[in-house]
Amino acid sequence: MTTALVIVDVQGDFCPGGSLATAQGDEVANKIAQLLANPDIRSRFYSHIVATQDWHIDPGEHFSAEPDFVDSWPVHCVAGTEGAAIREPINTALIDAFFRKGEYSAAYSGFEGAADGVGLGDWLRERGVDAIDVCGIAIDHCVRATVLDGLKGGFAVRVLRDMCSPVDATRGELALAEMRDAGAELA
Ligand SMILES: [Zn+2]
Repeated sequence: MTTALVIVDVQGDFCPGGSLATAQGDEVANKIAQLLANPDIRSRFYSHIVATQDWHIDPGEHFSAEPDFVDSWPVHCVAGTEGAAIREPINTALIDAFFRKGEYSAAYSGFEGAADGVGLGDWLRERGVDAIDVCGIAIDHCVRATVLDGLKGGFAVRVLRDMCSPVDATRGELALAEMRDAGAELA
């Protein structure tokens, strides 16, 4: 297996202080930063390391002044703002490519994202990747959608559950069960 690490939406607005903060966002950012700092990470674990970013310009009803926090949300991750930046202390120099999604509509799955016009699935397949480890924010939304799309795309998928943060803890547990039932390994 050739395995890539897919870091989903660990961005300012999804961490404490952001407009759509998840309580454990900084804990997740710190753990991922630690993992990336392992000097053996590429020789021992991952052929490639990529990140996805919610990257909104005008996403229509995805933004709402009266959000329901299921289908509509406060303004977040506006392209080019601090809220859309990858959260420190993650060292972005260690990430090979950034797949941005959601410019003009809601996009939960990282597989809807593109880097220089190439979608995540094609980018991985072009490099011989057949397995992905997925971590990030939020486990009940974008991590879930990325994992389910990865399985549909034929990748072996593992969820690094300790490096994921939910919007809602109960929905997070349900998402874990759903991902496992769909064929993901929970690590
Ligand atoms: Zn969004």
